[in-house]
Amino acid sequence: MSKNYVIGFPRIGEHRELKKALESYWTGRSDVKALEKSADDLKIRHWKYQKDAGIEYISSNDFSFYDNMLDTAIMLGAVPKRFQNLTGHELYFSMARGNKEAVAMEMTKWFNTNYHYIVPELSLEDRYGLNAKKIISEYKQAKEYGIKSKINIIGPLTFLGLSKRVDGGDTYALHSKILPVYEELLREIATLDDEITVQIDEPIFVKDLETKVLSLIKPTYDKLANVSSHIKIAVVTYFENSCEATKILVHTPIWALGLDFLYGTENFDSLKFIATSNKTLIAGVVDGRNIWKNDIEKTVSLLNKIALHVNRKNILIASSCSLLHVPFSLQYEEKMDTEVKNWLSYAKEKLDEIALVSKLFFYAKDSLNKDEIIALQENIAANSTRKSSKLIHDAQVQKRVKNIKKLEREGKYEERIQIQKEKLQYLPLAITTIGSFPQTVDIRHTRREFKDGNLDEKNYVDEMKKYIDDCVTFQEECGVEILVHGEPERNDMVEYFAEQLKGYGFSQNGWVQSYGSRCVKPPFIYGDINRLAPMTIDWITYAQSKTDKIMKGMLTGPVTILNWSFVRDDMPRSEVSKQIALGICDEVDDLQNAGIKIIQVDEAAFKEGYPLRKAKIKEYEDWAVRDFKLSVSSAKKETQIHTHMCYSEFNDIISTIEAMDADVISIETARSGNELLKIFAKVGYKQEVGPGVYDIHSPRIPSVEEIVTQIKLLLEVLPKEQLWINPDCGLKTRKYEEVKPSLTNMVQAVNIVRDEIKKMR
Ligand code: GLN
Ligand code: ZN
Repeated sequence: MSKNYVIGFPRIGEHRELKKALESYWTGRSDVKALEKSADDLKIRHWKYQKDAGIEYISSNDFSFYDNMLDTAIMLGAVPKRFQNLTGHELYFSMARGNKEAVAMEMTKWFNTNYHYIVPELSLEDRYGLNAKKIISEYKQAKEYGIKSKINIIGPLTFLGLSKRVDGGDTYALHSKILPVYEELLREIATLDDEITVQIDEPIFVKDLETKVLSLIKPTYDKLANVSSHIKIAVVTYFENSCEATKILVHTPIWALGLDFLYGTENFDSLKFIATSNKTLIAGVVDGRNIWKNDIEKTVSLLNKIALHVNRKNILIASSCSLLHVPFSLQYEEKMDTEVKNWLSYAKEKLDEIALVSKLFFYAKDSLNKDEIIALQENIAANSTRKSSKLIHDAQVQKRVKNIKKLEREGKYEERIQIQKEKLQYLPLAITTIGSFPQTVDIRHTRREFKDGNLDEKNYVDEMKKYIDDCVTFQEECGVEILVHGEPERNDMVEYFAEQLKGYGFSQNGWVQSYGSRCVKPPFIYGDINRLAPMTIDWITYAQSKTDKIMKGMLTGPVTILNWSFVRDDMPRSEVSKQIALGICDEVDDLQNAGIKIIQVDEAAFKEGYPLRKAKIKEYEDWAVRDFKLSVSSAKKETQIHTHMCYSEFNDIISTIEAMDADVISIETARSGNELLKIFAKVGYKQEVGPGVYDIHSPRIPSVEEIVTQIKLLLEVLPKEQLWINPDCGLKTRKYEEVKPSLTNMVQAVNIVRDEIKKMR
């Protein structure tokens, strides 16, 4: 027995086969059969990898054509009315992506990861009923292949906790309607074999649960675990500690509990309960959401500490969460620096780590075979070079961080804004945009050709300048008042900066599923971050030279750069963030010295970094605010600092946003009228605000009248002197044909409102 356990495996495929199969099916280039064949091939290959690595507990039903929450909705028959006329794949993909008649279901982030799930829509009048086809058939498929799989399902309390009620009211009120379907599912599973393990994912247990939810845990799992003696239930949590739930679950007849010991170290406090209840512990000790090679010896010693409390024979060695959140295999990273590559481990490599850790933990070192001995030695060597490598440790950066004296800019907001208004002379309701302009086919092509070495630098720069010229001319003609250069040189707001910072690495094939067929390839921070040269000055000063109006400099903030990267695990995130902030701070200084008067530092992902547990929020806010302020600490009083955030819900974090002390913040409010702006007025927010006046996520062109209405709504909440007018996010995903009339209408709308205000006086 290997006594090891993988919570779940990526399904997109090592070459993103599922993405390709899905997109080909959606566009009608292939049929259902081809799609299903690709899926079956992938499942079998993934089972094989796990089996070959020596994993004992391998999942079925961790595969999904789109998303496991959506699968669960289908399993329960929780289908919104607007899709009820459909069946099969048509139903499934319509729920995910919408169709001509019906809009798609909403999608949102899976806890604090970059994976997005489909939000189930529930209502009191729903009638639920079991559809176990997918689950049963995957189990059988695995068995045919020679694997007695554990079956993964999302638990009822997590399902309810992440769903929304379309008729208003509480999703947990539907518990008594949902639970019988889960019981029926387990009864059906029980007929498949004499002994079957069912992994029930309940990551909602890592949040601060209300008493009402806590009180549902015992009845739910008493029921589910009593359905059949053929079924062993493992309740699995991840991303944080689940201490409150653990204390309850040990008093139910479940077989095992899965706890994350990397991101929820408090789980240690629960070990005594597990010990006395004699439950099996699925110990999440190999990082399922980061790409660093496990330190095998350290992990074994962590396990030995766990074994001081829990009987060794009751422990299974596991990934900390599903490996869905890491890329597939290092095998295809051919261009990476070999020293850096040697520090990494993707999903497939993690399987070997789990296997090796379990061998070492359960048996003595001398039971390792030759290959395993070599693997262990290599692991020790790789981890030791990380401690000393020059690629990682930059004495200069470390010294600078240690000696930071100036944490924030000079002058209080009230003083700064007066100086700025005097100098910049912008009107109330100043008109601007968020930064990017349409990423045309041409511009993408040019960037790719340059990257691939098919286009020389001069020609590349000329092409970019042409784009900037057009972008500036258009903004001038249209009447935008504070201009941007349009960001044609940027593929992505984080990658662009990462590529110019020492300490960052990039993968060739490090794709991670973000939602459906969509994958991202986050850059990774392996070493001390150092800005070696200015990153944006040439582009911005060129753009400024083309106009007499103010050209806004455009940077990405430290917290967002951090939150959209894989981050080194040998240093606290808050320290890494500080290093990035210093790089941005230098860039701000260079920009202002080059004559740029307004600089926007985007923090699109500021809110995404929030911890799952309330008790940890203050610590995050403290360093996140500290580092935003540090990143603009070089700004002179007269340099106006803007920031942009890609969301609208500020109720919980408004005082934190205010503490960031940006002179102007632009936010996403277009879809809510002025509702979401009210919080700014309520707390007496003093800085200037640019609430998006139209929604850029849709191709629809807003009319002058509707923008006028929107602006008037905003004016009901905040005075004109405090308001800026802009779209609600960057325009890069839109077409010029949409952007031109939209911005023209926006400018006209502002002029109408300004005239009306003048007449009133
Ligand atoms: N300046 C960036 C842009 O306009 C901001 C993007 C974002 O908020 N996600 O594209
Ligand atoms: Zn945005």
